[in-house]
Amino acid sequence: MLSSKLLKSSKVFGIRTFATNTKLFINGKFVESKTKDWIEVRNPANQELLTRVPISTQEEMKAAVKAAEDAFPAWRDTSVSNRARIISNYKNLINKNMDKIAAIITEEQGKTLPDAKGDVFRGLEVVEHSCNVASLMMGETVENVSNNVDIYSYIQPLGVCAGITPFNFPAMIPLWMFPLAIACGNTYVLKPSERVPSASMFLVQLAQEAGVPDGVINVIHGSRDAVNFICDDPAIRAISFVGSGEAGNYIHARGTANGKRVQSNMAAKNHATILPDAHKERTLDALTGAAFGASGQRCMALSAAVFVGESKNWIPELVERAKKLKVSGGAVPSTDLGPVISPQAKERIHTLIQKGIDEGAKCILDGRNVQVAPEFAKGNFVGPTILTDVTTDMVCYKEEIFGPVLVCLNVDTLDEAIKLINANPYGNGTAVFTASGAAARKYQREIDVGQVGINLPIPVPLPFFSFTGSRGSFVGAGHFYGKTGVQFYTQIKTITSNWRDDNISTGVSTHMPVLG
Ligand code: NAD
Repeated sequence: MLSSKLLKSSKVFGIRTFATNTKLFINGKFVESKTKDWIEVRNPANQELLTRVPISTQEEMKAAVKAAEDAFPAWRDTSVSNRARIISNYKNLINKNMDKIAAIITEEQGKTLPDAKGDVFRGLEVVEHSCNVASLMMGETVENVSNNVDIYSYIQPLGVCAGITPFNFPAMIPLWMFPLAIACGNTYVLKPSERVPSASMFLVQLAQEAGVPDGVINVIHGSRDAVNFICDDPAIRAISFVGSGEAGNYIHARGTANGKRVQSNMAAKNHATILPDAHKERTLDALTGAAFGASGQRCMALSAAVFVGESKNWIPELVERAKKLKVSGGAVPSTDLGPVISPQAKERIHTLIQKGIDEGAKCILDGRNVQVAPEFAKGNFVGPTILTDVTTDMVCYKEEIFGPVLVCLNVDTLDEAIKLINANPYGNGTAVFTASGAAARKYQREIDVGQVGINLPIPVPLPFFSFTGSRGSFVGAGHFYGKTGVQFYTQIKTITSNWRDDNISTGVSTHMPVLG
């Protein structure tokens, strides 16, 4: 396979060979775990065994946190300009290795190579933004709040921070986390998704090459025990999580109960609202790409289409577009949809489609039993699927399917569409397609969803803004990246100083001091 060849000739070879074990990264060294418990990682396109991920032992996890704790004072005291220079080197290395990282992602996660490059690129943008860390960490000053008294604030790192990542963006989401955290002067413990560990391992290898000192980034592996360890270890000050609602709410509850700062980006059901005055061709193109791209395994996938009035007549043309999408291995040129992550995920998607049908939805495009090339016969493939006549009480609407399944609902008015979407528990993203500025403005004001696209399907903000999912899709102390990302990884110290140039004593006062 193309990607196998790429990997074997790349530096990744130093971290992982095929069907060898994924290493831990502790204090600047890739080390073999002493665990007896391993998780197999298989290529979702053909079930080839790629690597085994260790369930880190308690000692290994403690060693990773200790390394991060020990590295913190020197890293915090490294000048902000030098930290930024290292992040800038890192940015260049990621750019240079974009194809290799993408090949790793395609092989392990399944998405197409161009989509995998997008995964890396959207993470790289956060690294680029982190190069401006000095400006992002500027405090505030007010001179002479009283005679000879000034107040100023510094933005300072927290200490050891940790990240727990999902399978669907093996590069972007780790890159949302540790580059900004370390740019701010923190040290880090990353626990990648046990289903896609290798992009993270390569990314930390590149960070080391960029000049990140030993101990500043560490990687542990595992699932529930590693997560519990992160939630409980007293040295960890803040936890970034991206993944399912079940895990995110759990980590938020357990982490905050232990006094940690936690940010949890979670599950979604993202609605597209299609008004009949929208540009039909562009809207249907956008909807097709955003519903089925990455086989629907994006937290910002448009997985529910709300057709307002006559726009429902466009559904047959949507089906025609979806039918043309090519389902194959992600490394095969011109593939539109790769496999879903696991046989269990495929089974779950099939079950949810069937439940929709059993509850009265019409399956007008059925991607179960999709035909793929013989070499992918064992892969976890699901073809584009469209369910119409879906109502909000159906399981296929209520659950995040996380597969290439678009559920279509009909309403008569924009007000009804807004009401329907606001009644859904999730608030990650939404998009409205219309030619009316007034309708778009009404939508952006009244919709209770954190990220809104207007004639744009996947409104993931660039890193000078933040990723602002809301309601059931987010819980925590601050959003990822942008200003709020910096706030999450830092604390403010405010200093009130009194420098007098006379020798006059002001005497003892027992009153609450009042400046002025
Ligand atoms: P997941 O919750 O299964 O796994 C995410 C991480 O949590 C992994 O590192 C895993 O080891 C850990 N984990 C899993 N179950 C756990 C549990 N019960 N207790 C403690 N830790 C647990 O998520 P996933 O399947 O890897 O990713 C897909 C989910 O992530 C989808 O719901 C998707 O919407 C969501 N997601 C959200 C965003 C966002 O920004 N809102 C972005 C990407 C993915």
